[in-house]
Amino acid sequence: MPDGFRYQGGELCAEGVRLAAVAADVGTPFYIYSAATIAARYRRFAAAFAPASPLICFAVKANSNLAVLRLLARLGAGADVVSEGELRRALAAGMPPERIVFSGVGKTRAELDAALAAGIRQINVESIPELRALAAAAEAIGRAAPVALRVNPDVDALTHVKIATGKRENKFGIDLDDAADAYRLAADLPGIAPVGLAVHIGSQLVDLAPFRRAFGRVAELILELRAGGLAVERLDIGGGLGIRYHAETPPAPEAYAALVRETFGALGLELACEPGRVLCGPAGLLVARVLYVKEGAGRRFVILDAAMNDLLRPALYDAWHDIVPVRLPAAGAVLSPADVVGPVCETGDTFAVARDLPPLAAEDLVALTNAGAYGAVMSSTYNSRLLVPEVLAAGDRFAVVRPRPSFEDLLKMDAVPEWIDDAVPLPRSARGTA
Ligand SMILES: *Cc1c(COP(=O)(O)O)cnc(C)c1O
Repeated sequence: MPDGFRYQGGELCAEGVRLAAVAADVGTPFYIYSAATIAARYRRFAAAFAPASPLICFAVKANSNLAVLRLLARLGAGADVVSEGELRRALAAGMPPERIVFSGVGKTRAELDAALAAGIRQINVESIPELRALAAAAEAIGRAAPVALRVNPDVDALTHVKIATGKRENKFGIDLDDAADAYRLAADLPGIAPVGLAVHIGSQLVDLAPFRRAFGRVAELILELRAGGLAVERLDIGGGLGIRYHAETPPAPEAYAALVRETFGALGLELACEPGRVLCGPAGLLVARVLYVKEGAGRRFVILDAAMNDLLRPALYDAWHDIVPVRLPAAGAVLSPADVVGPVCETGDTFAVARDLPPLAAEDLVALTNAGAYGAVMSSTYNSRLLVPEVLAAGDRFAVVRPRPSFEDLLKMDAVPEWIDDAVPLPRSARGTA
């Protein structure tokens, strides 16, 4: 069980808060985060890099709840944002613009304008066309945009194919072979002030070797650029450090930081990094209630009230999340395999297959662990299910930090034009009856 969550008196708690009490108050399913766990993980990550003290820009896409961002802002974190919505969240949470970087392969003109207007630290540019669009946007307001060029080091991150971003065939970054020309262009373009480079090769990396390969190539490029008379002051090393969902043994932050120090320590760079998952993944649970236990043909199905729309990772990435009972089973309880599924009408709505679980019955609560990153942020209303609420626990207090909407809220999102009844003639049989 990740830190911050433990059984007290036979009941699973988030810090000092009983999950059963939250379930009674908020209903299920819900996410719950441990504030102390986020803080402890942030502090350990930051300490690992000391004394280099890089700017830690939390990857907002991992968990964009304003309360979580506020907590991280208080700890000293900045933000890595990938949309105007995330930029607005980071600013609203009190993150200073000078600690915000903007990443992403497809920023719109409106997003570039918003980033310039906010005066953020830097925009990580991923292509020549984007560089030109940004130059135009910056010139229009008489500014020079601080730019880091994101390079694609053509390294296999050895992670799930859908979250590997550092191979040449991925859409991200500027090819290493073209990076020097692009950097020179950036230096020549009015409206652009190149400040350095950025790299991010993927997420949930559980081995240092891909980082080592990528960082080595970036270090070479920095030397090449400098030899050509170009200033490279900053380096943004991205995020991607993995966590233990099941049997993985991800590198410790200290080992990762040591590698960064070895590779870049002598280059006199201002460093930034963009961790997401490693800071908040283990700090969250998804709590659900068992609706039914169905004995199938040689299979036991545990049907939860949470579904793939609430936690997409198993359906999208075949991801593993531990599933634990909220009430500790009786001593000597026998584990037996079960498929744990949600109510959504897709076979992909499956959280676990043949998972060894203690006896479970309708009304029992279970928790899916390591759900603090890429959980609530990926939730949807698919099947017209209500967006899953989020709760933050700190000590013996908890607060709903995103309430469950009502069905009225859900229906209000659509609009039916007044002419709809004229658009399709009624069938003959129904005419004259109204
Ligand atoms: C997703 C992403 C991150 C964060 O990745 P984690 O695996 O959550 O650390 C950082 N930087 C960029 C550019 C990203 O796209």
